[in-house]
Amino acid sequence: MDQPEFVHQPLPVRVVFGNGVLGRLADEVDALGLRRVLVLSTPGRRADAERVAGLLGERAAGVHAEAVMHVPAEVAAEGLRAARAAGADGLVAYGGGSAVGLAKMIAKGLGLPVVAVPTTYAGSEMTPVWGTTEDGVKRTGHDPRVLARTVLYDPSLTLGLPARVSAASGANAMAHAVEALYAPDRSPVVSLMAEEAVRVLAAALPAVVRDPGDRPARSRALYGAWLCGSCLGVTTMGLHHKLCHALGGTLGLPHAETHAVVLPHALAYNASAAPGAVEALRRALGEDDPAAALWALTGELGLPRSLAELGADPARLDDVLAQVLAAPYANPRPVEEPGLRALLERAWKGSPPA
Ligand code: NAD
Repeated sequence: MDQPEFVHQPLPVRVVFGNGVLGRLADEVDALGLRRVLVLSTPGRRADAERVAGLLGERAAGVHAEAVMHVPAEVAAEGLRAARAAGADGLVAYGGGSAVGLAKMIAKGLGLPVVAVPTTYAGSEMTPVWGTTEDGVKRTGHDPRVLARTVLYDPSLTLGLPARVSAASGANAMAHAVEALYAPDRSPVVSLMAEEAVRVLAAALPAVVRDPGDRPARSRALYGAWLCGSCLGVTTMGLHHKLCHALGGTLGLPHAETHAVVLPHALAYNASAAPGAVEALRRALGEDDPAAALWALTGELGLPRSLAELGADPARLDDVLAQVLAAPYANPRPVEEPGLRALLERAWKGSPPA
């Protein structure tokens, strides 16, 4: 059989991985020719961001610890003002997808290069996708200027990430890899990375949850998260991401936990139309039924398994359904109402995937 046709376009991100690599941040900033970088974080990580600014010495133009999940428009506008006022010529995003998301919106406005130091498993640092929220509506888009130039993955920085946040963030990451396996624009290299990502995370996350201070498990989990983010950055996501986007936007559900609840159901929906992905996931998870295995993993990680637990109002599920049907993402199986309704009902109740 011929090798199926593909296009592979890797993204130009320099990745530096290892315990203690935060110590190389100043060198990496110098290598980009930057002299005044603004350090960004969420308010909760301000002390860490100050420490990062300390490591940068004169290269730090200040700390702006105002990042908020899903980058509300006013938070983005305030970030732009802060970067201008500081005379910043670059940005260092320290933290999870919220800090990286703010850096992206500033980069989009001012064209400043981004250096990312991710401390969760969300994966935004590996993608050219920006997002912002206005009046409860999230807008996203692609822009090469928002892609991080350099990413420093230092697993030792993740030791303090609480077990629950780690588990949810890891499940969010796995969703990128699972959907990359059936993405229309996947390549053989992406499929290898995605399979490895699921294998690595499925093994590491239970160990991280048992002992958040388990250094080898943290290191493996962050490696898996990098792979997941890399898959996300170069492929088009399907039904699962569309559903989570609609659920998050319409019902205000927590981002990472929503991914954890929906993923087994979205995979079960798509399995019959994505045999190659199912084969790869069987190898990665060591189980015959990958959707059931992911559902079992969610339980093992102590994550919520129902949208009801997340506070979803069942009366609004029809709105979510309508949104997804109106503009479905590329998906291996056609997105049709009866199947989708059944999927949402199971996810709402927390029933096993079918
Ligand atoms: P987050 O950045 O808000 O972090 C989650 C929580 O973990 C926060 O409370 C944060 O303060 C805390 N935290 C982070 N690092 C910590 C550490 N080392 N120790 C202790 N606590 C720590 O959320 P997230 O899950 O990382 O990212 C979600 C956001 O990222 C969403 O807005 C999502 O839309 C976006 N996202 C975007 C992309 C993209 O490609 N554009 C991809 C994935 C996620």
